[in-house]
Order: sequence, then C-alpha cells, then structure tokens
Amino acid sequence: MTAKILYIEDNPLNMRLVRKLVKSFGYEMIEAMDGILGLEMVKSERPDLLLVDVNLPGMDGLEVATEVKKIPELASIPIIALTANAMHGDRERCLAAGCDAYIAKPISRQELKNMLNRFLTDDAQIATS
Ligand code: MN
Repeated sequence: MTAKILYIEDNPLNMRLVRKLVKSFGYEMIEAMDGILGLEMVKSERPDLLLVDVNLPGMDGLEVATEVKKIPELASIPIIALTANAMHGDRERCLAAGCDAYIAKPISRQELKNMLNRFLTDDAQIATS
C-alpha cells in the first residue's frame, strides 16, 4: 500500500512544490487549502501522515494538530508542521501543539524526504532521486 499524506496548505506554490516532491518519493498526496477542511479530511480520509502549514486562514495548523491529537483514533497519525517564519520558539510551539516534527521553509527536498521516510518506513516506496 502506498502511504497517503494529507497536506494542508493555503499557498498554491508551496502546494505545487510539495505535491511534486511527495510524488517523486512515491507517496500519494491529498490536499486541503484551509484548516477546517483539513481537519474534516483527516477524519474522513485517515491519512498515514499529516503535513500542516502553520499559517492558515481560519483555523491554523497548530490548532489542527491539537484537534487531531485529541481524537483517540487519529492521535497516532504523525504530524509534521511546516512554517515560513522560523522564529525563536517556533519549534517548541509546534511540538507543544502536538506536532511530531517541524520543518522550516524554504523546504529542502532531502529534509522532507528524510522526514517522510522516518515516519512512513513501513509503507515507504522510495523512488530513485
Ligand atoms: Mn500559509
């Protein structure tokens, strides 16, 4: 089974970049453009991993992470936060909100690949880079 990743991101350029990378790693990606829809999709689609942009309109990525971790059936889904503003304390805020890991933008292909493989080892279908 190909691992299914849900990416919640409001910026179409980031969405396109990550879609391209994730596909090149051999994973399936589904998408949501805001936090509220994203949270609904976590419940309905049960992704193997969640990538969340921190800065989202309405419900932000950290709120989504906190909500997901409150739901026992979904709490084991790994959550990786992506943030543009690598401010002091950002990583701690992400982890405190329930995220399992954190990636600062701009996204590095190798860092994203390593991170996804780390959390998806069992299902990893790693394409040649
Ligand atoms: Mn954003």
